[in-house]
Amino acid sequence: MRWLRSLVFCAVFNTLLFSQQPPAEPSHSLDTVDKAADPCTDFYQYSCGSWLKTAEIPPDQSRWGGFNELHERNLAVNRQILEKASASNASRDAIDQKIGDYYSSCMDEKTADEKALEPLKPELDRIAKATDKPALIEAIARVQLIGPNPLFNFYSSPDLHNADQVIAYIDQGGLSLPDRDYYIKDDPKMAEARKHLVDYVTQVFTLAGETPQKAADAAQTVLRLETSLAKASMDRTLRRDPKNRDHKMKRDEAVSLAPDFSLNRFFTVAGTPQFSELNVVNPEFFKQVDTVVASEPLDAWKTYVSWHLLDSAAPWLSKPFVDANFNMQKALTGQAEIKPRWKRCVNLVDGGLGEALGQRYVELTFGAEGKQRMLKMVDALEKSLDEDIRSLPWMTDETKKQAKVKLDAIRNKIGYPDVWRDYSKLQIVRGDLLGNLLRANEFESRRQIAKIGKPLDRKEWQMTPPTVNAYYSPPYNEIVFPAGILQPPFFDKQMDDAVNFGGIGVVIGHELTHGFDDQGRKFDPQGNLRDWWTAEDGKEFEKRASCVANEYSNFVAVDDLKLNGKLTLGENTADNGGARIALMALRHFISDNPSDKAAQTIDGYTPEQRFFLGFGRVWCEKRRPEYARMLVSVDPHSPGKYRVDGVVQNMPEFQKTWNCKPGQPMVAENACRVW
Ligand SMILES: [Zn+2]
Repeated sequence: MRWLRSLVFCAVFNTLLFSQQPPAEPSHSLDTVDKAADPCTDFYQYSCGSWLKTAEIPPDQSRWGGFNELHERNLAVNRQILEKASASNASRDAIDQKIGDYYSSCMDEKTADEKALEPLKPELDRIAKATDKPALIEAIARVQLIGPNPLFNFYSSPDLHNADQVIAYIDQGGLSLPDRDYYIKDDPKMAEARKHLVDYVTQVFTLAGETPQKAADAAQTVLRLETSLAKASMDRTLRRDPKNRDHKMKRDEAVSLAPDFSLNRFFTVAGTPQFSELNVVNPEFFKQVDTVVASEPLDAWKTYVSWHLLDSAAPWLSKPFVDANFNMQKALTGQAEIKPRWKRCVNLVDGGLGEALGQRYVELTFGAEGKQRMLKMVDALEKSLDEDIRSLPWMTDETKKQAKVKLDAIRNKIGYPDVWRDYSKLQIVRGDLLGNLLRANEFESRRQIAKIGKPLDRKEWQMTPPTVNAYYSPPYNEIVFPAGILQPPFFDKQMDDAVNFGGIGVVIGHELTHGFDDQGRKFDPQGNLRDWWTAEDGKEFEKRASCVANEYSNFVAVDDLKLNGKLTLGENTADNGGARIALMALRHFISDNPSDKAAQTIDGYTPEQRFFLGFGRVWCEKRRPEYARMLVSVDPHSPGKYRVDGVVQNMPEFQKTWNCKPGQPMVAENACRVW
C-alpha cells in the first residue's frame, strides 16, 4: 500500500518471512542478554548477545529474529485453521468454503504440475493477439486486473489535498528487480543481479515453449525495456517528499502528456467509474516512457507484458516454473531453500482472503483483555507525546498548538476491523489454483478501482489480522496494530510492564511519531498535504532531522555498504521518538502505580534497565548478506543493530540508566533529537 508507514518491513517482494521450524513457545525472560558484554560499548550486543551466539537463519529464511519467530507461530495457527476448513464437507459455512478450498487447491501440487502453463494460456493469447499499440495497452489493463503491473502502476488513493475523497493515481512502475538502482548502478553486485534476471527470463520463456535463442532474445528485450523504465523513475529518497508526488491534473491533460499510453482505452478496460481528475505521481516518467512506447516495436512490448504475467504466475505453476522463480529470489536474498508448500499456501490465502482467514484467526487468538491493555498503553503513549511536544525547546507555541490538534485527531485501530470485508462475490473453486489466484486478484483490483470518486472508507484496514507489523497512515491520520503483533516479544502478558513498555510501548510511540516525521509532518489532522508549521519551526525541524540523517548514514549495513540516512530518516526519527516517549510513559506508570511489579527491581535490573532490555530484544536479528544489501536499496528501516544502538546513543536517559560515560560508544558526541 502506498501510504503505509510501517514498523518492520515494507512489502518487498510479497514474500513473508517464515521458517520450517515448528512454532516454539515464546520466551518469557530476558535470556537474549549477554552479561559479558558492556552495555555502554554496544547495547545491541548486550541485549542480544546470547541469542546472537546460537541463533541460525533457517534455510528457508533470508532474515531471522523475534519477528520471524512470531510469524512462524501465526503461520502454524493459520495452517490449523486452513487444514480444518479444507476438509470438505457439506456443513462448512461460506468463509470456510472459500479459505479451505483456496488452500486445498494450492496444496494440490500434483494438479499444478499436470496443468503446467495451460491455465495461463488464454491470458497469454490475449496479449499475443494485440495488433497495435493501443490494443496492447488494453491487454496491459487486463493483465493489471488479474495480477502484475507492467509498464506503470494504476491505483486509487485519497486525494492529497482532500483526504476524504478517493481519486485515481497513475505512477511509475513496471520493474522486475527490486529498485531502479538495480538497472542503473554500475557496481558488480547490481550487474550480477541483472545477469540473474536475464537467466531467469530466458529460463521461463524456454519453459513456456520458446526456442533457446528466442528466449535469450526475449530476456534482452525485457532488460532493455525495464532499464528505460528505471531511468525514467524517481528514486526512493526523492519520493519520500510528498510534494514530489503531488501532480493532480485533468484527465485530458494526463492523456495528452503521454499520448502513446492510450490512457482512455486503459481506463475503459480497467472498468473505472467516471472521473475527470487524477494524480500523475511522476509526470516525467510518463513523458519519457511515452517515447519508448512509441519507438520500441510492438513485439518487444508483447514480450515484456507476457514476461510480467509469467513471472507473477510462476510460483503457482508447475515445479520447473516454481524453481526458476525461487532461484531468482535466492540470488537476491540469499535464502537457501524454498519455503515448504504449506507456508506458501497459507501466505497465498492470507494475501487473497486475508479478512476471511483473519476472522478465524482472531476467534482463536485475540481476547478482549489484550485489546483493553493495548488501549491503555496507547492512551499512555499519547499523553507522553503530548507532554513531549509541550516541552520541546525548539518549537514555538504556535506550531505546538497545531501539533497538539493533530495528535488529538490521531485515531487508533487495534486487533481487527469492526467491519469485515465481504468476499461473497469472489468465486473459489476447489482444484483450480491459478483460476482462484486470478479471480482473487481481479476481485481486489476491482474493489480498489471502484473506490475512485467515492468518499474514503475510514473503517478499512491495510493489513490483515495475523500480520506481525503495525502502521501509521498520513491520509487516515491513524495508527493500526493487527492482532498478529500483540504477542511476545512485543507484548508479553507474562512479563511486567517495564518490559512491555520497551516492546509494544516503543512500537506505539514509533507509529505515533510517524505522524510527525519528515513525511508525516507535512500532513494536517484531516490527512491533507498542508503546511501547518511556521517557517522558522520548519527550519528547526529540518536541522534536527539532518542530524539524524547524518548519524545513520555512517552506519555500515553489510561489508562496506553504508545505510542511506535520507531513505531511512522517517523510520529512524520514529524509532528515536518512540523510545523516548515510551520511557516517559513508563515513568508515569510507575509513579502512578508504585506497588506494581513494573516498579520493582527484578533479576538485578531496575525498571528502566528492563525497559531498554525489552526494547533491545525486539530487534535481535540476523540477515543474509545478500538480503542485507538489497534492503539498503529498498527498505526505509534500519537493520536491528542500529534500531537499537542508533537510538540509545542519542538518549541521556539511557546513559544515566546504564552509567555510561562520555567517550563511550553509546554516548553520541553530537546526540540528535527531533522529538
Ligand atoms: Zn515505521
